[in-house]
Amino acid sequence: MSTPRLILLGASGRMGLAIQAAAAEAKLPLAAMVNSRDDLAAAMDLGDVVIDFSSHHTTIKLIELAIQKKKALVIGTTGHTTAQKQHLLPLAAQVPTVWSGNFSVGVNLLFALTARAARTLDESYDAELIELHHRQKKDAPSGTAARLLELILEARRLDEKALKHGRVGLTGTRDTREVGVHALRGGDIVGEHTVLFAGPGERLELTHRATDRMIFARGALRAAQWVVQQTPGAYDMQDLLGLND
Ligand code: NAD
Repeated sequence: MSTPRLILLGASGRMGLAIQAAAAEAKLPLAAMVNSRDDLAAAMDLGDVVIDFSSHHTTIKLIELAIQKKKALVIGTTGHTTAQKQHLLPLAAQVPTVWSGNFSVGVNLLFALTARAARTLDESYDAELIELHHRQKKDAPSGTAARLLELILEARRLDEKALKHGRVGLTGTRDTREVGVHALRGGDIVGEHTVLFAGPGERLELTHRATDRMIFARGALRAAQWVVQQTPGAYDMQDLLGLND
């Protein structure tokens, strides 16, 4: 297939600017750039695939338009609740969609390693997650943290009630079935995630540090080129990178 025509949603945001830089780097032209006041429906007629780094409030409208206009989607926006995502994902699957809370190759490997560690290390290894982001970030925990937590909960057959967001006061001793979550915010930190499994006599820490948001932008562009060749369905970066067992 010839080079897909790309539509960028959230074009003037931090990620929007990174996508523009990555597209220039890869010599991929952008067919349309959409900001909050622009007409998304009209812009969607100009391209084949929408790359979305805007706001979670926009996702439903974006998916409805993509179904109507038969366009592919790359969704990078985070901040949806689990219930929202469960509702939106089957709708997005009506067109070819890559939906990922993190488009970096390193983080996607971290997803695979975390799932593996959570399966191998039993509940005598306490699982905790720590994530750090810049002070402008609007949601917590991050989309990446949410996916890491999902993987740990799945491996341990636990539900969301096991999550313990921060601790304060007389918390009592730690329940072996809880999964601690800690969101730190400050400065211009691009994004860091550590999954910690602390057991008797040893602990394993898996850490990913992003130092440049270009890693997400390059991954999203790679996903856009890949997704236009796929049949309708909801895919993630694991599919694209061949990391799904
Ligand atoms: P940002 O606030 O800098 O940019 C968001 C932009 O979207 C703003 O310019 C805003 O005006 C625009 N916007 C809001 N509603 C819109 C609408 N309806 N139509 C068009 N534009 C709209 O935020 P950011 O740091 O660029 O992050 C954007 C999103 O991407 C966040 O949800 C963030 O968590 C997520 N993110 C994902 C990844 C990933 O790899 N998946 C990486 C970094 C950030």
